[in-house]
Amino acid sequence: MIFETDYKSIQQRIENIDPLKYGKTRNYLNGDVTYLSPFISRGIISTRQIAKAVLAKGYHPSEIESFLKELAWRDYFQQVWIALGDEINEDVKNKQVCNHFLIPKNLVDATTGIEAIDKCINDLYQTGYMHNHARMYVASLACNIAKSHWRLPARWMYYHLLDADWASNALSWQWVAGAFSSKKYYANQENINKYCNTNQSGTILDKSYEELAALDLSSSFDDTINLILDTHLPNQTELKINYQLPTCIYNFYNLDCNWDIDVHANRILLLEPAFFKQYPVCDRTIDFVINLSKNIEGVQLFTGSFDDLLQQVNPSSLHFKEHPTNKHYKGVEHSREWMFENTVGYYPSFFSYWNKASKKNSLWSK
Ligand SMILES: Cc1cc2nc3c(=O)[nH]c(=O)nc-3n(C[C@H](O)[C@H](O)[C@H](O)COP(=O)(O)OP(=O)(O)OC[C@H]3O[C@@H](n4cnc5c(N)ncnc54)[C@H](O)[C@@H]3O)c2cc1C
Repeated sequence: MIFETDYKSIQQRIENIDPLKYGKTRNYLNGDVTYLSPFISRGIISTRQIAKAVLAKGYHPSEIESFLKELAWRDYFQQVWIALGDEINEDVKNKQVCNHFLIPKNLVDATTGIEAIDKCINDLYQTGYMHNHARMYVASLACNIAKSHWRLPARWMYYHLLDADWASNALSWQWVAGAFSSKKYYANQENINKYCNTNQSGTILDKSYEELAALDLSSSFDDTINLILDTHLPNQTELKINYQLPTCIYNFYNLDCNWDIDVHANRILLLEPAFFKQYPVCDRTIDFVINLSKNIEGVQLFTGSFDDLLQQVNPSSLHFKEHPTNKHYKGVEHSREWMFENTVGYYPSFFSYWNKASKKNSLWSK
């Protein structure tokens, strides 16, 4: 899978969505999924933009509910992050019962012995993408079979994903591990074979769900390791700033090339070392961010802290988009685009969020 970064190709991806086929096949590894998450996560397109484009083809929302619901999961998790802040770094609803806070070595090495899972991990290393079902399998294996706490394996996966989004990531891992849900998620070999088109038997997962939940199979994952995850940022080059103009700040979560496009402004992609220390990502993801930023006319790269940047621009005219990781920015905060404008705040479950959001909103009525 190659993720072209020019805006035209991204628009073409949106144009190509077949939401009916999506609803029928999305759980299969070779199903008709959109591969749009790297672009949504990096803030170059929004869930609302995608929903609007698909609905404009004339579908009734009820016909394509499965697709719209998946898009809404993204916004739901972001709303939870806004509401809970750093609390999402801990077990949100239930304490996960686990054996350790490390990661099984055979997961990192892609040698678990489950062919489909090992292939998906190798593909993640090669492409920066993993199918949703595969992410669930990996998380279930790590947390519920190997009995790792979710946090380090989640950070490992996030590190390699082009679509790294800490809300979707941390909360999905917790959902699988039973820390943000009422029960743990298990996948057995039969389920994996069905959705990954494999035919493997005799593995440690070749059991009934009752057996998987009752047996302690963690000894197969006894070899555990810690990980040092570092981000390599590009060196700073000299900025050319027009002091008379406002400055728009872009970052890891906002690469919206259409943002205030008519305004004459300095446009800076800010890569803060402290941010990447807290949320490290691999070289491929940094390259992806830089390539996507080329869609922003006149963008300049700044590697340093927000306070360092303040020394170089006119501090009275700074603009940025709201995000939980931007709390230290100063200037004019612009809101992000949401699929459902009127549904904000913490909802204890996706379904309570969806029920509220899908009842009355401007998307359906247009
Ligand atoms: C353990 C685990 C970790 C995850 N980590 C991330 C992450 O770091 N970043 C990330 O963007 N997503 C994450 N997800 C959610 C989901 O797997 C991806 O968004 C999806 O696989 C992206 O591929 P796609 O764009 O082809 O999705 P599609 O199936 O085509 O879905 C369309 C869009 O709907 C949204 N969406 C679909 N499924 C989900 C979901 N389960 N949760 C949230 N949004 C969803 C995404 O915005 C996606 O782009 C994670 C899921 C799990 C189980």
